[in-house]
Amino acid sequence: MELIAELKDKKAEMASWRQHLHQFPEIAYEEEMTSDFVAEKLKSFGIEVHRGLGKTGVVGVIHGQDSGDGTSPSIGLRADMDALPMEEQTNLAYASRHTNRMHACGHDGHTTMLLGAAEHLARHRHFSGTVYCIFQPAEEGGNAGARSMIDDGLFDKVPMESIWGMHNWPGLEAGRALAHVGPAMAGADIFILTIEGVGGHAAMPHQTKDPIVAAGMVTIALQTLVSRQLDPFDQAVISLTKLEAGSAFNVIPSIATVGGTLRTMKAETRKDFLQKIEAVAKTAAQVTGCDVSMEVRPGYPPTINHEADALFARGVISDVLGKDGLDTDLTPTMGAEDFSYMLQHKEGAYIWLGAGTDSQNLHSPLYDFNDELLPMGASLWVRMVEAKLPTQTG
Ligand SMILES: [Zn+2]
Ligand SMILES: [Zn+2]
Repeated sequence: MELIAELKDKKAEMASWRQHLHQFPEIAYEEEMTSDFVAEKLKSFGIEVHRGLGKTGVVGVIHGQDSGDGTSPSIGLRADMDALPMEEQTNLAYASRHTNRMHACGHDGHTTMLLGAAEHLARHRHFSGTVYCIFQPAEEGGNAGARSMIDDGLFDKVPMESIWGMHNWPGLEAGRALAHVGPAMAGADIFILTIEGVGGHAAMPHQTKDPIVAAGMVTIALQTLVSRQLDPFDQAVISLTKLEAGSAFNVIPSIATVGGTLRTMKAETRKDFLQKIEAVAKTAAQVTGCDVSMEVRPGYPPTINHEADALFARGVISDVLGKDGLDTDLTPTMGAEDFSYMLQHKEGAYIWLGAGTDSQNLHSPLYDFNDELLPMGASLWVRMVEAKLPTQTG
């Protein structure tokens, strides 16, 4: 098997949709023009449309053939629609027309690949059961559009057995793809340690409990956590990124704060290390008699592909992109992704589709989605559905 010929022929039309979306980027929960565009396209393909989940989310429902055995299997395909709050510097003819807004992560392309697949699926209906095309808002910036859609009842209103996501991936050759077995993206949490001491005169430190010295001890002590307490076969990062204390040169302050981010690949490690960070910080701050309290601002959980589904996706990738098209080498990334919430509820996997070795990095002001990927991503979606929900006649 290979790319679907009809989708190859549709590349220029899909590129025009993608470049239109690129010109009018919208950020988290403001995807009004984008969701209108998506809903109108879906309707024009004869697809039932539901709106309003997660504020600006759109779901297209495509019914296939009768499964023949009384069951009605179903599958969810997810694309993200939001852009980033940044200025584009590409000078492209179709560059962003919105100030401080840019599609620098390729969500314009993801939306288009799923639209292309939706049209093909609606025209041929060569599958049994139901396909839900889920266009979500607010993936970027910790805004958790995926979770908003779930909180608004996504999986109750449109029940499905499995869900699948896809992201373009610069650095991997265009025309290659992969699905990690297990963790694909990290979980990312923010923590803020407040170190409380007793302030006083800088010349009389013995009358104080110095939170600045404690903050130094805490900073050093936390460096030992990943190196000494993490299983070498597991992965985590602790980076301290904020250190604040004091307002005068002759005053020992009463409070210092140390903040940072924890990145983990497993739910257990995440829980364990959040506890360890607090425990180690408390112990280290004891050096000067200070107390520590910790606030956690939870971010996206790790994105963990279900093993059997990742292997299934690899089969589809090999079918569509060829044996050489399947990459099995790329390591997971410490970046985070809110598709993780969907994989906490449903089976499925997150696929990386190579954007080319010469592509600018995601979130660069020079980045542009590679339109060569449009027929590839759309073909992968269609073949995924046909393989997962086969018809009676095959
Ligand atoms: Zn991004
Ligand atoms: Zn993205």
